[in-house]
Amino acid sequence: MSEKRFLARTAPGMPTTDGAGVKLTRMVGTPYLDMVDPFLMLDRMDSDDPDSYIAGFPNHPHRGFETVTLILEGLMRHKDSVGNEGVLGPGDVQWMTAGRGIIHSEIPEMVEGRLKGFQLWVNLPSHLKMTAPTYQDIPAQEVPVVEGPGSSVRVITGSHEGHDGPAKAHTPIRVLDVRLDAGSTWTTTPADGNGLFMCVYEGSITALDNLGREQEIEAPKSGIFHGDGPVEVTAGADGAEILYCEGAPINEPVARYGPFVMNTNQELEQAVRDYNAGLLAT
Ligand code: MN
Repeated sequence: MSEKRFLARTAPGMPTTDGAGVKLTRMVGTPYLDMVDPFLMLDRMDSDDPDSYIAGFPNHPHRGFETVTLILEGLMRHKDSVGNEGVLGPGDVQWMTAGRGIIHSEIPEMVEGRLKGFQLWVNLPSHLKMTAPTYQDIPAQEVPVVEGPGSSVRVITGSHEGHDGPAKAHTPIRVLDVRLDAGSTWTTTPADGNGLFMCVYEGSITALDNLGREQEIEAPKSGIFHGDGPVEVTAGADGAEILYCEGAPINEPVARYGPFVMNTNQELEQAVRDYNAGLLAT
């Protein structure tokens, strides 16, 4: 029996503003696509207008999940309440496990030029939500690039074609940054039962739906894939750039309030109390 993953539906990105007026496109965490367990949110930044990004994301807390920042163009300076600081440049990845709590700022470093990248929120299971905060700062050159016919895949986390991504996730997930030449077909096999979406952020792809009909996904849009077996997509006439996110569902209740993601409202209230008491800053 040859089974294949199929395109269940697509979801458009929604223009939104976050931080101190940063204009971005929310791809996951919208009325069109609430979440793809274990992925809670995906924001896409893409602007060459400094006024739309320069104020960045001043000091703010997080608790209960992981934030993954991928910079494609531009520079982002990161600082936190326990003294960690660094600048992310093109191709760099920061994997921050907020765990029980951290306060940090994320501010673009350049005054002109393009800022392009993503922030992905990955949920933590209940037994890890209050783990100690940690960082993985991964320079671009440590991210393996798997070249195939008409494709180039940066392996951020998880395994792809025998290459392991440098970021260590707390649950089984794969995050791949995929570039496809015009008309080229790319396939990979997600683990059965894993959630899967692909955010098409440049160009377009086609994929087959559950009735075998070819459907187009144009940037900026996400495709959500269901079923088991390999998944296959074909790039359109302008090629495609895709953020591929696959993960084992955590299957727990999600309670979210701004930068906090817990299992219950009581835990959210506790997070707000702890933040107001200054307990997330140490
Ligand atoms: Mn943040």
